[in-house]
Amino acid sequence: MPAITNHMPTAELQALDAAHHMHPFTNNDELAAKGARVITRAKGVYLTDSEGVEILDGMAGLWCVNIGYGREELADVASRQMRELPYYNTFFQTTHVPAIALAAKIAEKAPGDLNHVFFASGGSEANDTNIRMVRAYWQAKGKPGKSIIISRKNAYHGTSMGSASLGGMSAMHAQGGMPIPDIHHINQPYWWGEGGDTAPEDFGLARAQELEAAILQYGEDKVAAFIAEPIQGAGGVIVPPATYWPEIQRICDKYEILLIADEVICGFGRTGNWFGSETMGIRPDIMTIAKGLSSGYQPIGGSIVTDEVAAVLDSIEFNHGYTYSGHPVAAAVALENIRIMEEEGIVEHVRDVIAPYLAEKWTALADHPLVGDTSIVGMMGSLALTPDKAARAKFASEAGTIGYICRERCFANNLVMRHVGDRMIISPPLVMTPGEADILIERATRALDETYARVK
Ligand code: PLP
Repeated sequence: MPAITNHMPTAELQALDAAHHMHPFTNNDELAAKGARVITRAKGVYLTDSEGVEILDGMAGLWCVNIGYGREELADVASRQMRELPYYNTFFQTTHVPAIALAAKIAEKAPGDLNHVFFASGGSEANDTNIRMVRAYWQAKGKPGKSIIISRKNAYHGTSMGSASLGGMSAMHAQGGMPIPDIHHINQPYWWGEGGDTAPEDFGLARAQELEAAILQYGEDKVAAFIAEPIQGAGGVIVPPATYWPEIQRICDKYEILLIADEVICGFGRTGNWFGSETMGIRPDIMTIAKGLSSGYQPIGGSIVTDEVAAVLDSIEFNHGYTYSGHPVAAAVALENIRIMEEEGIVEHVRDVIAPYLAEKWTALADHPLVGDTSIVGMMGSLALTPDKAARAKFASEAGTIGYICRERCFANNLVMRHVGDRMIISPPLVMTPGEADILIERATRALDETYARVK
């Protein structure tokens, strides 16, 4: 077989890809018919494909390349760490400096007394850890009956059996065996799509109170935890009404339910604070982290827990762990990523500079004839595409068709913007400049115009 390199013709790379590579969340037959876009390199907020075309990455990969592409410092740290200690585990009474240093740094950055980290290789594994953790926690506290975890419909918490069960994606559950027992879902706080004639504040309150109703239905002595993202990402960047989170917090406190904030997207600066829980005013007992922790340069995630949760779990042997928990190269890279974020004031850049700049332009897209709702918090935003703004109507065609067309038009205009049903979403690198934000808006506007021309 010839060496497969960036220099091969695109069609040959695509043919080999179609022959051997199964893509996630993809109909691989459909993809094979058109050929996958081959990305060969990236720098800052731009990707380059095998045809040499530069594409503005409005999604920071999969919501993860927070400090942008091509940071030599991370490559240097990875190379140094691989030479010094490429691998060792943290089982059997051993540890190593990268895991120690990263855990201590995360404890410093996380709010309140979230001071203890259990490492995983990504968000799905970390949420699986959380399922096991909350059940072990309540057992150790003499309440083994508390095993139910309540989540939300249209939530995304990962793709393993446990984390996909926590998630509320019906298309995933429909492919078999999910949710696993003792996981239940309440409705999401999606006012634009589901609020009807109710005022947003009343709707937010009502959706939060579904948690209380579920706790009363299943029994306070049976419910272990509630999990949610501070702002739903993969569900469509759904920003809950302001009444939602305070009520959820009140209910968790009242019934002694552990609150798990899935910060896999919201964490590490995306919402203009280090964590989305700070932006939304939540006090979680457990936080799931991944993605921005290493800016996606290495696969690493984890669960951060409070002093109280750690004290309970530390008193037993928690029979859980992954070969790559606290992997030294991943940990060293994550630590360097956080160092760069601190040194360059990237969270401040989001909060004070780029997020307000982008928000003004993003919100103005509401004037486009195709756009109803515009939502944006920090560097995560969404647009609801609608044929009738006043009625908040959905397109009559199959859900998502318009979003799919718009995503294709974005691609044709060298912009990565994703769609979730009829919502278009962005989550750009946090290091974006105002000039790059202008380009994003220009390309998005062109894609919206071209989509509108197809449906009006
Ligand atoms: N949780 C949230 C909120 C996510 O958005 C994701 C991935 O998109 C995950 C968990 C799963 O993370 P991973 O893909 O690293 O397993």
